[in-house]
Amino acid sequence: MRKPLIAGNWKMNLLYSKVPHYMETLSVELKKANWSKQAVEVLLAAPFPFLGLSRELGEKLGFFVAAQNIHEKADGAYTGEVSIPMLKDLGIQWTLIGHSERRQYFNETDTQVASKSKFALQQGIRPIICIGETRAERESGKTNEVLENQLLPVLEAVQGFDDFVLAYEPVWAIGTGLTASDEQAQDAHAYIRALLAKSNKAWGEKVRILYGGSVKSTNIKGLMSQSDIDGALVGGASLDPLEFSRIVTYGSSH
Ligand code: PEP
Repeated sequence: MRKPLIAGNWKMNLLYSKVPHYMETLSVELKKANWSKQAVEVLLAAPFPFLGLSRELGEKLGFFVAAQNIHEKADGAYTGEVSIPMLKDLGIQWTLIGHSERRQYFNETDTQVASKSKFALQQGIRPIICIGETRAERESGKTNEVLENQLLPVLEAVQGFDDFVLAYEPVWAIGTGLTASDEQAQDAHAYIRALLAKSNKAWGEKVRILYGGSVKSTNIKGLMSQSDIDGALVGGASLDPLEFSRIVTYGSSH
């Protein structure tokens, strides 16, 4: 049985000074809804400057906190970058890797995503590894091919580990208001799960696959009722703690 995980990705939004109010509001709303972290895990991917504070507050309230990116080297002359040992020193145990915005605006390649994933796992950080096709790729019938090309280098790199999460995020649904239908999302998740199982039988059963792309409180239930969807990666709608709490609550009734 895979425990649902609802993850918020704040991207480059909010402010350090707003973090305590956000966390408090989310916690109060989730308490009202009888949220239990044993039933559904909650994670927030915060900008680097907020990570120390977010981790401190999040830990008390039962939320996991993740970085949104990491560098693939442990240290060195990489001005402006942040390493895994630095994150671990802050008590961070999770990171996103390969978000489509990193791939699109910062030219992250499948090879880099694979090596970052391996390095994170070697260092004891759990990665949420993002994959997904563009609109043009979907329209030309290449969705499965793209997912396979993005995923296989990662699966090869992370052999021997199993503490990772995948996020299927169709690029055409991110921040656009367009959501994959429950069926489109389930089909992609089932395909990803089959690739996982082909590489390693235990992965097929154990690894959680989150859906991301304009998830809201109004579409989370349908998505979570699909057998291969184990949670969500939520961008825009995670910026409002009230809306995010509804997503967690409705996602829990899976
Ligand atoms: C995301 O950033 O991972 C995402 C899915 O964004 P949104 O929910 O805004 O589409």
